[in-house]
Amino acid sequence: MEESRSCNIAITLLHYTPLHICSNAIRTCWQSFDKGDNGGEKDIELIDRVGNKFKHASTLEHLYYNFYIKGISRACLQELARHRLASYSVKSSRYTLKELKNLPSFLPINEENLARAEQFVVFTHNKEVDIASLKALENLREILCKNISNDIAKFAMPESYRTELSFSINARSLQNFLSLRTSKSALWEIRALALSIFNALPEEHRFIFQDCVPES
Ligand SMILES: Cc1cc2nc3c(=O)[nH]c(=O)nc-3n(C[C@H](O)[C@H](O)[C@H](O)COP(=O)(O)OP(=O)(O)OC[C@H]3O[C@@H](n4cnc5c(N)ncnc54)[C@H](O)[C@@H]3O)c2cc1C
Repeated sequence: MEESRSCNIAITLLHYTPLHICSNAIRTCWQSFDKGDNGGEKDIELIDRVGNKFKHASTLEHLYYNFYIKGISRACLQELARHRLASYSVKSSRYTLKELKNLPSFLPINEENLARAEQFVVFTHNKEVDIASLKALENLREILCKNISNDIAKFAMPESYRTELSFSINARSLQNFLSLRTSKSALWEIRALALSIFNALPEEHRFIFQDCVPES
């Protein structure tokens, strides 16, 4: 399992469907199984022709990718979760907010405390905004130290608070996600996430998604 990193976002591709499952599904239509080459050049050409060029894109739904995503903000999660054709299991603030409870204060604002805070919140590199995030984190820590329950305290979480999730998506939906979210009109954090997801894909699968990401 390889991990790729960007903006302190870590993506691990946990599992993926081999290409021959998709080419086999396409060959079902013609009953031409004997022409397959187990995910080799012939199968790749078929997937590209039928799935991409002929837009028989439902055949791409046989390919599934299972990712573990670490370090995106809850703001970014909100955008990601709008992609309905995917599956999500997200770190629960309800069960995990206690992670802040026994930590020392994030104040005063200095390099050391900013670095500590960045483990918990996504910084924007705008100093005023980042200091506001640090203060929100400190407010939340103080609330938790007063033994206020996670269910109530979570309403004081900043949007910048980092989260992590298991994320599974099929190739057709991933094409849509990459087209929308690697575009320059997408917000910078989800754009960084989308590019990292593309980079975490197996080399031999990239042809399916090449036209969905801008040329570098
Ligand atoms: C630059 C940008 C700015 C955005 N700004 C906003 C914003 O200001 N406010 C906001 O609320 N959202 C915003 N969004 C989110 C956007 O509206 C979509 O919710 C999000 O991009 C998910 O796209 P999707 O519906 O194609 O994906 P999915 O939900 O994964 O759907 C995939 C595809 O399945 C089909 N589909 C799914 N559900 C249906 C359905 N019910 N009926 C018909 N077809 C369906 C469609 O073809 C769809 O493209 C923004 C997105 C982008 C990229």
